[in-house]
Amino acid sequence: MQRSAPLYIDLHCHLDLYPNPQEVIQGCLERKIRVLSVTTTPLAWEQTKALAPPSDLFLTALGLHPELAQKFKGSITLFERLLPRAKVVGEVGLDGSKRLSHTWHDQLHVFRKILEACEKQEGRILSVHSRGATSAVLDELASMPGAGVPVLHWFSGTKQELSFAIKLGSWFSVGTGMLLSSKGRSLVSHMPQTRVITETDGPFVKVGNRPSLPWDVGLAIDMLSKLWEVHRDQAREIVSANANTLLRQASIIG
Ligand code: MN
Repeated sequence: MQRSAPLYIDLHCHLDLYPNPQEVIQGCLERKIRVLSVTTTPLAWEQTKALAPPSDLFLTALGLHPELAQKFKGSITLFERLLPRAKVVGEVGLDGSKRLSHTWHDQLHVFRKILEACEKQEGRILSVHSRGATSAVLDELASMPGAGVPVLHWFSGTKQELSFAIKLGSWFSVGTGMLLSSKGRSLVSHMPQTRVITETDGPFVKVGNRPSLPWDVGLAIDMLSKLWEVHRDQAREIVSANANTLLRQASIIG
């Protein structure tokens, strides 16, 4: 039986970090939301993958979050071992926040190891964190183009950095966190419409005072429809077609 296409996509959320992941999974099945769960350490990959039923609605990325790079740098060998089985990588990247400055050396070491490992596997889709470190992230990606297709999650760089990212072939996952700020909206309006996909970054990002849920990408779609000056159904279709293009390129969906 042919299942109809997913209505929405959340290309960056942390399914394993919700208090009750099964409720979230049920909600996604009922609403036909495709979800990419990113993980913060390679140790979490197998169990996060096991949370959801085998279905191409639920994808699980193998990650090592830059905020945890120092603590978990030893798990890079596990990352390399699991990578042949993981088609998507994330959350990875660099974080230039002041409170993490003492970990910068380890962050860079881990991110380079990850990009090298991805290159050896002939490329992956990568969900990339770049808070406060946009230009460093872009430099690393530029020096390792064989690592795959970067999807910059919650891009917060300058217009110039955005142009460079576009030139590098980056995609962008955008959510309410970004779209609620005028700087974020201005950046999104300069992104090629064909390379924009929705995300929630739940449960970290809040909607009101509750953690955002994958179906809250509907709010991002509302905001994109205003920004792109198209009907919301059309905005939803654009994003859904973009996601299909990205995932098909990597043979993740048929
Ligand atoms: Mn995240």
